[in-house]
Amino acid sequence: MEKQRLWDETWLQFADMMAERHSKCASKSVACVIVKAEKPISIGLNGTPPGHTNCNEIFLKRADGFYKRAEYVHDDAVDLMEPAIQLVHDGVTFVKCADLYEHHNWSKQHEIHAEINAIGKLAADSTNAFGATAYVTHSPCHACSLALIAARVARVVYAVGYEHGDGLDLMRESGIEVVHLPLEKSYKNTL
Ligand SMILES: [Zn+2]
Ligand SMILES: [Zn+2]
Repeated sequence: MEKQRLWDETWLQFADMMAERHSKCASKSVACVIVKAEKPISIGLNGTPPGHTNCNEIFLKRADGFYKRAEYVHDDAVDLMEPAIQLVHDGVTFVKCADLYEHHNWSKQHEIHAEINAIGKLAADSTNAFGATAYVTHSPCHACSLALIAARVARVVYAVGYEHGDGLDLMRESGIEVVHLPLEKSYKNTL
């Protein structure tokens, strides 16, 4: 049990580091690491498909909300904002999003969740996640929970809850062991 907990913490820390360093979503850094027979077999990050514009090239998150790169804002949308709040970041002009859900709605259309990316890579390699553990920085949403159930993973270990709803009960009902393991941001052996 203690050994399992140490490995769970290790892989979850790894997922967390992958997310924070490599996710290109302006809103949330998410990663999913799938481990099978003690080996990581797939890593997925949240983001747009290869070759598409990254979220963080369009959106900027600030304490007061989301901003969108000016050339991606339609003129009619700008007219609705009186006056349009703008800022310049690294020489690029961004306009404040009037709609609080603008990124959320854009993301639903353009970004693939980390779990789906991780499972998709396994399919590309002609392998599978049967009996594996999925380490995810955020609790899987409903759609990703269904995908993890379909992929027949045995365990899901996550660090923080996802505010837009998750499928934890759904996974438990399907026989998946779900473990909530809040992370301390340190890599030392805490046992
Ligand atoms: Zn995003
Ligand atoms: Zn998801």
